[in-house]
Amino acid sequence: MVAATVPYGRKTQHSPAVKEVHVLWITAGLGCDGDTVSITAATQPSIEDVLRGAIPGLPKVYLHNPVLAYENGDEFMKYWYLADDGRLGAFVLVVEGSIPNEKIHREGYWAALGTDQRTGQPITTCEWIDRLAPKAVAVVAIGTCATYGGIHAMEGNPTGCMGLPDYLGWDWKSKAGLPIVCVPGCPVQPDNFMETLLYLLYQVAGLAPMIPLDDCLRPTWLFGKTVHDGCDRAGYYEQADFAHEYGSPKCLVKLGCWGPVVNCNVPKRGWMAGIGGCPNVGGICIGCTMPGFPDKFMPFMDEPPGARLSSVAIGFYGRVIRKLRGWTMDTANKEPKWRHRRPELTTGYHPPTPVKS
Ligand code: SF4
Ligand code: SF4
Repeated sequence: MVAATVPYGRKTQHSPAVKEVHVLWITAGLGCDGDTVSITAATQPSIEDVLRGAIPGLPKVYLHNPVLAYENGDEFMKYWYLADDGRLGAFVLVVEGSIPNEKIHREGYWAALGTDQRTGQPITTCEWIDRLAPKAVAVVAIGTCATYGGIHAMEGNPTGCMGLPDYLGWDWKSKAGLPIVCVPGCPVQPDNFMETLLYLLYQVAGLAPMIPLDDCLRPTWLFGKTVHDGCDRAGYYEQADFAHEYGSPKCLVKLGCWGPVVNCNVPKRGWMAGIGGCPNVGGICIGCTMPGFPDKFMPFMDEPPGARLSSVAIGFYGRVIRKLRGWTMDTANKEPKWRHRRPELTTGYHPPTPVKS
């Protein structure tokens, strides 16, 4: 019998520390499922890449998201009960939508998923979080509603809703020692979330250190810079060249852009495959990734309060710089005078004097 041949290069392959990971994704917060829809546009990696194991050495991933699942009804819910019983294995809990305050009404519920067999009553989203968060290896809040409350937590809302860190506590840690991981955005930028999930898979596999997060629990490599830092209209800003109506290619700060004070990478990254964005393609940044969103940014289409001061301050400098650059550009747009077809050479070249022998 011929022995099976094992390629030499296979020694580069290592089994992950955890072989299988389930992703239990609650879309039953107060939300619109926009983050789930958004991540289907990701390409680096795509959700299909992750589920089909395109990157070797990572755990096999099983996704349980009601918007994307094949199963429905009880068949879909069985994974939730298995996780609750501690029989599902390692899982990451993803929460989408803000967390309502179920303590402020006498009867009924704000949000729920599935039915409790014992009571015949809906199982609230809060109860699922209470049951599953302590058993998860990692808990991820996707979108600004789940991370910080978002639009549903606006002043005047009747649900008293909040983000996951407000609900579980900002110092909360999973049983694997991970803080809540927040990936804000309204909706989340597709690759921002998939990159974060990928990082967590690397971490669970034992191939990456603790995920780096900022004070707002956001991955630092995604949210460490401002919109303005990555906006390709910042050149106009620097020269105090501001748009005064939509459709202009210039800086939008006077039309309501909050980019200089907002942590987000969308203009630099684009929305899908580098295409799209916000101020880079003509839409003001409304600060949708920020814990203060939306109340602290409204009314959106007014000039931000600090922008008037900073644009006045940059006004004189910007006009002078623009003038100086204009002169320099005029010069740079002219070819050097020695490029001509006259019969003499005027480039400054002097042939070497022949050496006498
Ligand atoms: S459009 Fe917004 S983000 Fe872009 S340069 Fe102007 S202020 Fe900054
Ligand atoms: S650029 Fe502003 S509006 Fe656009 S996704 Fe980022 S924070 Fe939201």
